[in-house]
Amino acid sequence: MKITNYQSVSVKNFNKPLENHRKDNAGMQRTAALPSFSQRADNWMHVDKQKFEKYKQAQKYVDGCDNRYMLLSSYDSDKLEGIQYGIKVFEGLNIRQVILLVDSLHAICTSRTCSNGCVHCYAEAKPFHVKKDDTGTITKMCWEDFCDLTDGIRKFANRMHKTANELPYFKSKTIAPFIDADSMEIVLNDQKGREYDMIDISKKIARDLKYHIMFDTSGWTPKNKKTQERAQRYVDYFKQQYDNGNKDVVVHISLNPFHKLNSKYVEYINSEPKRAKKFRELYTDRMANVFYTFLPLDGVKVLNRALSEHSSGNELYKYEAHVKLIKEIRDKLEEKYKADASCTPESAKKYLETFDRITKDIYTEDLGATGRLENLLSKDDADLKEALKLHKLNHQHPESILTNKRGFVGSVFVDANGRVYATDEYNTIATDIQLNFRNKNKKTPPIFGLIEGQVSSDALFKNLKDNFII
Ligand code: SF4
Repeated sequence: MKITNYQSVSVKNFNKPLENHRKDNAGMQRTAALPSFSQRADNWMHVDKQKFEKYKQAQKYVDGCDNRYMLLSSYDSDKLEGIQYGIKVFEGLNIRQVILLVDSLHAICTSRTCSNGCVHCYAEAKPFHVKKDDTGTITKMCWEDFCDLTDGIRKFANRMHKTANELPYFKSKTIAPFIDADSMEIVLNDQKGREYDMIDISKKIARDLKYHIMFDTSGWTPKNKKTQERAQRYVDYFKQQYDNGNKDVVVHISLNPFHKLNSKYVEYINSEPKRAKKFRELYTDRMANVFYTFLPLDGVKVLNRALSEHSSGNELYKYEAHVKLIKEIRDKLEEKYKADASCTPESAKKYLETFDRITKDIYTEDLGATGRLENLLSKDDADLKEALKLHKLNHQHPESILTNKRGFVGSVFVDANGRVYATDEYNTIATDIQLNFRNKNKKTPPIFGLIEGQVSSDALFKNLKDNFII
């Protein structure tokens, strides 16, 4: 794409309406078209002539490169500076910051709260209640900010003559729209209060970033009709994706003894067995319903985890107890099929066989857990060390978070307010990158494993460049 083409291409993209008018079963329009805020954005080139000149020089430089084979970190960043000008969400960022973001982006925190309270949660997710009069705190991204982010990356990729999923060095086909939220609980709002769910998020990410989303759930309360209907819509949508050959769409059901409801059972079983059993029933009912809803989605996977038999933790969190838990859920699932007049014995048999197949392997190594799991185990437990992967960040060189010694390459995520964090899953540190979000001045819930201070994007960029140029 040459500079001369730039204006027409950008204007075309800016004005394209988002195709997310959809109707629910009752024929009501559920979500609305994206408001026209994005159509105003290209005025910068008339307003700021100096910046536009700089942009043109940068675009000329890119046009002269063999972009197909170049990593972002191997461009001359001085010559590239300016290519990001006019992209609203990147306003105020230099090119090194933009490269860091798009090269290492792994997750977008569309929502920062979770009601499940799993004791093994590596992100230590929990519910976060904002007081009514607290207008300075948010727990989720607003839809317009989310759109600005995906639009911005798409535009940047266009200018680099790439698609967004060709930008990162480590190419992945999926992106997580969360770090500490359950996918079933993610619903964004726009400024007018309209709702956007994981289908809207998924479509936007597929269209702009060419990625599939990761979808993980630990279930929902079966009596919650609204969520149950939403789950059904998700199953239909993901089925459609699979039918269209999008096999990389990742849908996980999280099945483990660590969920808040089952952990209450573990807590009370000796002191208050009656109460404990109620919690157990709630958990097994919930999970039977999750499988009942999601099993028609051929390709759904299970995150099936427990403590190993030789760990020092409570027996009821271990492998053998988990096998019993799975059996209880299976029995309830079988009952549901028997009670369902529309389900033939053949279908029930097929679904139960699928259940057996996908719940067969129980993962007991490297649970990828942090703080809360630590409380379940004794401190000198070798498994604890393995489970917690006691990797500590080198505080002298926090930029090593993107290329640490374990060979695991870290990544960055965007918080709901547009602040960018670098993480290796166990340590997280704020960067000096702040996206130009509407909610950039709002507070968000505390981030897990956060190391004090801030790492400079110049240091991170240098690290990226030193480590990844081939
Ligand atoms: S593991 Fe997932 S579902 Fe459980 S508390 Fe953490 S984010 Fe929520």
